[in-house]
Amino acid sequence: MAYDRNNIFAQILNGKIPCSKIAENDNAFAFYDINPQAAQHALVIPKGEYVSLTEFCAQASAQEMADWLHLIGEVAAELGVAESGYRLLINSGADARQEVPHLHAHIVGGEDLGVMLRRDKK
Ligand code: AMP
Repeated sequence: MAYDRNNIFAQILNGKIPCSKIAENDNAFAFYDINPQAAQHALVIPKGEYVSLTEFCAQASAQEMADWLHLIGEVAAELGVAESGYRLLINSGADARQEVPHLHAHIVGGEDLGVMLRRDKK
C-alpha cells in the first residue's frame, strides 16, 4: 500500500495535529492514545514512512528498528508498567483491523489486561 502523507500520525509527526507527547529519539516518537483502552495506553511510531509492520520489517534500517524498540522500552518505564507488566500490540493490515496507516505499537498496561485475544468479534 502506498504511504498516505496526510494520515493522522504523519500529521502528528509534522506538527499539524497536536498530541500528548511522551518521548522521542532520532527515528521514533511516542505519545498517548487519544482513546485509551487501559489505565495506561501509549503509541510508539517510527518517524519513517511505513504503513505497516510488514513494510517496516522488509524496508527499515537496523538503526530505525533499534530506535523504535528502544523507545518502546523507554516508554514502558515512563508509564510505570515495566515491572508490573504490559502488552505490546501491533495491528498490521486488514485482518488486524489496523485503522491508522502508519505503523504504531500500542503499549497498554497499568491494570490486569485479561486474556490475550477476545473471540467475540464486534
Ligand atoms: P489501530 O486500530 O491499531 O490502527 O489503532 C489506532 C489508534 O490510534 C487508536 O487506538 C486510536 O485511539 C488512536 N488515535 C487515533 N487518532 C489519534 C490521535 N489524534 N492522537 C492519539 N491517538 C490517536
